[in-house]
Amino acid sequence: MKINRGERLSPIEQDPQVRRGNFYEVNKGFTPEMAIEEAERCLNCKDPKCVKGCPVNVNIPTFVRQIADGEFAEAAKTIKATNNLPAICGRVCPQEEQCEKQCVRAKAGGAVAIGALERFAADYALQKGEPQEPPKPRNGMRVAVVGSGPAGLTCAADCAKEGFEVTIFEAFHKAGGVLVYGIPEFRLPKSLVQAEIDKLKELGVTIVLDTVIGRTFTLEELCREYDAVFLGTGAGLPMFLNIKGENLSGVYTANEYLTRVNLMQAYLKDAATPVITGEKVVVVGGGNVAMDAARTALRMGAGKVTVVYRRSMEELPARKEEVENAIEEGIEMMLLTNPVEILGDKKVEGIKCNKMQLGQLDERGRATPIPVEGSEFVINCDQVIIAIGTSPNPLLAKSAKNLKTSPKGTIIINENGETSIENVYAGGDAVIGAATVILAMGAGKKAAASIVKKLRGKHGS
Ligand code: FAD
Ligand code: SF4
Repeated sequence: MKINRGERLSPIEQDPQVRRGNFYEVNKGFTPEMAIEEAERCLNCKDPKCVKGCPVNVNIPTFVRQIADGEFAEAAKTIKATNNLPAICGRVCPQEEQCEKQCVRAKAGGAVAIGALERFAADYALQKGEPQEPPKPRNGMRVAVVGSGPAGLTCAADCAKEGFEVTIFEAFHKAGGVLVYGIPEFRLPKSLVQAEIDKLKELGVTIVLDTVIGRTFTLEELCREYDAVFLGTGAGLPMFLNIKGENLSGVYTANEYLTRVNLMQAYLKDAATPVITGEKVVVVGGGNVAMDAARTALRMGAGKVTVVYRRSMEELPARKEEVENAIEEGIEMMLLTNPVEILGDKKVEGIKCNKMQLGQLDERGRATPIPVEGSEFVINCDQVIIAIGTSPNPLLAKSAKNLKTSPKGTIIINENGETSIENVYAGGDAVIGAATVILAMGAGKKAAASIVKKLRGKHGS
């Protein structure tokens, strides 16, 4: 077995000066030769720490070894055994905080590029049209899934594979949740999300679009029609700064801004749902959503984009890769800065901010930002995008009397993923608040396993 003792390879990327003007994917991935060379860096550890860092326990050493041996289709099969959406995870998972953080090679030339290798194998299988395992024969039981984000898609796939008849109900006119309306094309091409959804349809899953559960149908109606229901409704309700000027023209939440550009294709000249593009744009927040909004604004034609974040670079929650990419593209990071008022008459003319300093740690272990007295200053801008977090939409919970939620509006579940209503399960952002794709998938998987176990036991099949 050949071991490559060299440094970690970086995937091919579009030049920052070129990519800031287009929506094509920034990261172009590995060539087959690069993938093999990188895979040969894996030590095939007997006790692979990387697997412990993966929320869905992908058999990492096996798939990486298969790539090293040139068995790309086999590698994709290994990943697919536990991860239904590998082409997506390979692109957007925070591997640096998960599998790659645990990799023993981190100290010797850099962790094995597990995410980029996962993406390589998944893309290979999609391009070659590799067939997937057929589902088990239908068992006569029906499962309804509410929401088509990663939690819903994963739960649907796992139930369908086990022979259940699955129907997904989605409020939007397109399936995919945040994968289609939030994460921009230049990080996650929508054709890929569609390809993964088509695989789900091959398993016999029906997707019903433009259907809001809690409005079009009630949860009670679904419970009468189906043997089990999974709620993967996400956390799509944006939070506001609650400062003066937030209702001025030119102020968007990141959710609205990204939905207009991604889902409603506002970047097209004659789009039915337009979007304002300012000359000087300020994005408030420091997460992946803020980086996506800032980089989108740049590509929409803004002359200058500034990200305003109230803590320092160390606390900035966005993925390191996204922050580096944003800076390379020319986005200014204004740290230790907090908005206090959006200025303007009818339209945005500027944003008044305080400089901040960091104080004691809060209950989550993060330094508390404190305003520096007399530090107020104004940033001239004509557009403000607010990206300070989201919470679950209360619509469904309000319409379902017995569904217990926390004071923050998240759905309460037990250790099996079941809610306060029997046979109604939930998972993903709707349960834990805004988090990550892989955690949502893990929750969908866990709920599917509980549904399969319970319904099989009940029906004796
Ligand atoms: P969602 O993806 O939100 O899907 C929920 C779906 O349910 C939506 O399609 C919604 O329309 C539908 N729905 C809601 N209510 C109803 C109803 N009543 N009836 C019918 N349908 C309903 N995570 C990462 O891991 N890496 C990243 O790089 C990353 N970047 C992000 C960038 C942005 C801009 C955003 C917004 C999020 C990002 N995330 C990232 C977070 C990640 O996308 C989410 O954690 C994940 O999508 C949650 O999955 P989910 O299935 O729980 O919910
Ligand atoms: Fe390979 Fe790193 Fe996992 Fe060890 S920890 S098996 S070197 S990827």
